[in-house]
Amino acid sequence: MVQPYPVGPVDRVDPNEKMLFLSAIRTTMFAMASTPEDRDLPSSHADSILRDAFGLRKWRPHQREAVGAVLAGRDVVVTLPTGHGKSLVYQLPAVALDGLMLVVSPLIALMEDQVGALRARGFRAACLNSLQESSQRRETLAAALRGEYDLLYVTPERFRSPAFRGSLDDLGVVRLAVDEAHCISAWGHDFRPDYSRLGAYREALGDPPTIALTATATARVTREIVESLRLRDPLIVRAGIERPNLFFAVRTIESRDERLDHLADRLGSIDGPGIVYTSLIRDLEEFHVELARRGIETLVYHGKLSTSERQAMQDRFMTSERSIVLATNAFGMGVDKADIRFVIHAQIPRTLEAWTQEIGRAGRDGRPSFCELLYFEEDLAIQQTFVDWANPSIEYMMLVYETLRGWGERVQTKDLDDLRAELLVKNRHDNRVSICLRWLEVLEVTAGSFEGHDLRVVRELNPDEFPEWAGSGEKRDHDLRALLEMLRFAKERERCRRQLLADHFDLDAAPDACGRCDVCASTDEFVATSFERRQAPSSLRASERSNEASPSHCLPDVEFERGDWVEVGKGLRGQIVRVERTGRSVRLIIQDATSLEECSIDPRRRRVRRLPRSS
Ligand SMILES: [Zn+2]
Repeated sequence: MVQPYPVGPVDRVDPNEKMLFLSAIRTTMFAMASTPEDRDLPSSHADSILRDAFGLRKWRPHQREAVGAVLAGRDVVVTLPTGHGKSLVYQLPAVALDGLMLVVSPLIALMEDQVGALRARGFRAACLNSLQESSQRRETLAAALRGEYDLLYVTPERFRSPAFRGSLDDLGVVRLAVDEAHCISAWGHDFRPDYSRLGAYREALGDPPTIALTATATARVTREIVESLRLRDPLIVRAGIERPNLFFAVRTIESRDERLDHLADRLGSIDGPGIVYTSLIRDLEEFHVELARRGIETLVYHGKLSTSERQAMQDRFMTSERSIVLATNAFGMGVDKADIRFVIHAQIPRTLEAWTQEIGRAGRDGRPSFCELLYFEEDLAIQQTFVDWANPSIEYMMLVYETLRGWGERVQTKDLDDLRAELLVKNRHDNRVSICLRWLEVLEVTAGSFEGHDLRVVRELNPDEFPEWAGSGEKRDHDLRALLEMLRFAKERERCRRQLLADHFDLDAAPDACGRCDVCASTDEFVATSFERRQAPSSLRASERSNEASPSHCLPDVEFERGDWVEVGKGLRGQIVRVERTGRSVRLIIQDATSLEECSIDPRRRRVRRLPRSS
C-alpha cells in the first residue's frame, strides 16, 4: 500500500522539521482519503494511453495513483523496486501532456537503452550525453527546442553545459523526472555531487512539477530528496519489500577456502543465470580461476575491463539462459533480465540499501529465486577502508586543488595517474582523488577533464565553500553506522529477515514470519526443491546436440533457419547453428563470428536481422 510520509526512526529530526512532516502526513492521508486508488484518478485518458501506446492491459501496484498525481501537477516521490514499472510513472504522462518531460538519469548506457526502447515503439524520445559528438548534441537540442520530443533524457552533468543551460527557458519543460533520485542524498549509498544541484536547476526551469524515482530509500533519504529538490507537498509512494518469490539467506564463512567450496556447491545446485557480487577485483579474479578449476565457468565484469569488453560481457549475460557473471557493483544498473535465478554476495556489501538494490535484480519473472550473502569477518575491514576513502577530508580536497594549481599550464600534459602518484596514492581502490576532482568540477573550480587533456583551474577555492557535511566526521560516522546495520543484518539469527528489512526501510511488515528466509525456513531445502542442478558443460553439449539431431523441433514456418548469417542488435554477428522451438517459443542458437561462442537468442525480444549470404 501507499505509505504516508515516513515517520519511522529518523535521526536528529528537529522539532520544526517534525511539524513539517506531520503536516505532510495529514495532507497525504487527506489526499488518499479523497481519491482512493480505484476511483476517478487518473482519468480514463490515462487508461487508454496505457492500453494503446504502451500495450499494457493492467496497472501495476502504485502506478495508477502516481501517474494520476503527475498528471494533476503534483510533485511525487516514487520508491518502487526495479522491475516494478517505475519508468511508466513519467513515461505515460510524457505522452499524455503537451510539452517536454525532461528526465535526469545518471547512467549513459541506461538512458540510451531506454531511449532506444521508446523510439522502437514509436515514442518521440531523445537523449543528450557526453558520449555523443557535439554536432549530434547540437542537433538534438535544436530539435528539442522545436518541440520534436516528448521525452528528453540528460545526465545531471549536462546542466553544466552553457548551451544547455541557456536553452532551459525555451525547452517548454512541463515536468521534470529525476531517476535514481537517491543519488541526491549525501547519506545515500550512491551520492553524486551533481545531483545536489538539481534543486537549483529545477528553479531555473521555472519549478515544473517533479517526479523523483528510486528503487530504495530510507526515511532519511526520502526526506533529503524532498528537501534537495524543493518539492512541495509531494505524494510519497513507497512499495514494501514484497517479492515473495525471493529467498533471503546469510551464510557465515570461516575461511577463504570454505567460501570457494560453498560458492561452487551453490552454483552447482542452481541452474539458470545468476550474479555473484564481490567487493574487490582481485578476489573476483581469484574466484573466476578457482571456480573454473571446480568445473564452473563464469563471465567477469569489473571496472578494469574496457567499455567494449564490459558491454560484450553484459550482452552475453543478457542473452544467456545459464551464464553466471562474477561482478563488482558496477554491474547491474540497467540490467533488466527477467530470469535471473540467484544473486549471491560473496563479500558483504556496504549498506543494506546497496544489498537490497542488488538482490532486487533476481526473479523478476516471479519464479523462485535465491539471494545469499556470504559473511566472512575479514571482508569487514575492506568495507571500513572503503568508507574512509569515500570520505576524503577537506584538507585532502584542498591538497588536490593546490596540486592542480601548482602545476599551472602543465596540468594539461598530466593524467589521473600522475596526480595519484603526486599524492602518494598506493592502492588502486583508493578513489579519494577522483572524488575530490568531482567536487572541484561541481563547484566549478576546474573545467575540462584529464581525459580531454583540457583540465584547468579556473578560479580560486576557499575551504569553506564545501557543504558543511563534506569531509566531516559526521558523514564518515554515518557511513560506518550504515555498514554496522549491514553487519547486524548478516549476524541476525532470531528475527525474520523480511521483518528486519521492513524496520530498516520504515515499512509495514507482515506480523508473521515470512517462510522465505533462512531464519524462517531451511535454505538447503529451498534450494533443493526450487531448482534443477546446474548441468555440467559436457552434458549440456550432449543434450543440445540431441536437440539438433531432431528435425521435429523445426516447424515448417521457421523464419530463420540453420546456416543463416544474422546480426543481433548492433553488436553480435554470427551464424545460426540451430533453431529451437518449444510450443510457440523460438530460440536461435547463434555462434558469434568473433568469439565463436554460442548464445541463445529469442528473436521476439531482440532485433535479429538476416544478413545477405555473401557477408
Ligand atoms: Zn522470514
